[in-house]
Amino acid sequence: MGSPDALASALAFVEREGPSLGLFLNRSKSLVFVPEEADLCHSTLPPDIPITRRGFSLLGCPVGPPDFCDEVFLNRIQKVKASLHALSDLKDAQLECTLLRSCLALPKISFILRACPPSHLHNSTASFDLAIRKTLESILGGPMSDWSWLKATLPSSRGGLNLRCASLHAPAAFLASCSQAGPLVEQILGLTPSPGILPESVVPALASAAARSDWRVPCDIDVPLHQRTLSLAIDEATFQQLLVSAPTTRSRALARSSSLPHAGDWLNVMPSTSLGLHLHDREFRCCISYWLGVPLHSVPFSCPECQCSADIFGDHQVGCGGSGDRITRHNSVRDVIFSAAQSAALGPTKEVLGLVASSQTRPADVYLPHWTSGRPAALDIHVISPLQEQLVAEAAFTPGHALQVGVQRKLASNLPSCRSAGIECIPVVAETLGGLAHDTITIVKDICRAISDGGYGIDLHSTTRHLFHSLAISLWRGNSTLWLHRFPTLPPSRDGVV
Ligand SMILES: [Zn+2]
Repeated sequence: MGSPDALASALAFVEREGPSLGLFLNRSKSLVFVPEEADLCHSTLPPDIPITRRGFSLLGCPVGPPDFCDEVFLNRIQKVKASLHALSDLKDAQLECTLLRSCLALPKISFILRACPPSHLHNSTASFDLAIRKTLESILGGPMSDWSWLKATLPSSRGGLNLRCASLHAPAAFLASCSQAGPLVEQILGLTPSPGILPESVVPALASAAARSDWRVPCDIDVPLHQRTLSLAIDEATFQQLLVSAPTTRSRALARSSSLPHAGDWLNVMPSTSLGLHLHDREFRCCISYWLGVPLHSVPFSCPECQCSADIFGDHQVGCGGSGDRITRHNSVRDVIFSAAQSAALGPTKEVLGLVASSQTRPADVYLPHWTSGRPAALDIHVISPLQEQLVAEAAFTPGHALQVGVQRKLASNLPSCRSAGIECIPVVAETLGGLAHDTITIVKDICRAISDGGYGIDLHSTTRHLFHSLAISLWRGNSTLWLHRFPTLPPSRDGVV
């Protein structure tokens, strides 16, 4: 960078000193950038090096005026769109969604977002976000509301799909990059170290994205300038926006419940059939629609299993006791716990009768003969829907309300008899959206620790992750069975039968 004379001097230096270091300048592959507002008629400009007036790409990142950067980025997005379009060839919704989230969304363009000012990428980031939304709608099989899309842009720990908006997070990426690269740039240029090279123009954009009206100048931003920290601040603001803009009480409860601990586990699994973590196409589409608040049906209908009114979102269906599907879901979750306890050599037994003298109750779905301090423990599995009519109003404002209700129910029915028999009573409670009660998380981790301590060299972290993932998929598979067995029968005019 500099005047034509400075450029000529630098060029001479490179050609004089380079060969002794094995570096040879190829003039035909070099480029001189002369901004459009600068004078082109200068005698010291090298005649045999091509000149560009609009801008250039350095290591894949556009450098130049805003329209040039936007154009280069749009070309890059066209290539990403080709990959997005090819996703549907997989014909596997879970795999498509996993690849979209992990490989083709924000990670695909994070380098440019970090290297290019967000004000230069305004049109292209909006175009990229739209392409991601359309791809998600293709996986879902139909359009979604703006509220559902807003939910999808949150991380899975906040009830979303990790499809963060490029237009929202671009300022965070660039600001963090500037902050981290600043000292090195100053060192290279021989400048006196400054407090930071935070571009003033980025701060208002970041503050707006994070809904922080108190952020006006760089020194107002009191969080460490790492992209992760800034993005989490934006996510938190987006989550609050999601709650405030929830169109119904149910939507608000959905947002709350899908952000509970471990609720997002089912999205983070490796979709592997051999590990038992794969959901079939129709199963996954139902699950992801429910997760995002996208209706499963266009109109309410009579539930084919119990003849009650089945709603468009699937809330009745996911708790319907009209057939054995709800028990199947319960038993599936129970069996995951049971198998893990077996792997931990805890000697578990299922559904034991006669645990409590003179009682026909079965307080233990899984009975552990030796648990804390050698005492036996009764694990009672319970899956509860926070969106059912009796709980949804409170669940919209109290995170984990349904879990608390589920735990209290189990303690009320089992604790007195277990206590009289000297058995520890442990409710294992999950919400239908995957959130787990505190004690449930604790016992899952304790079982994993017992597996890891078994002396077979099994890694605790991967064991724990796999057990949480197995629990999540068995729960959501059970949910999807309830939905798929309760689809309305199409009228003759729709299914072609006269
Ligand atoms: Zn029903």
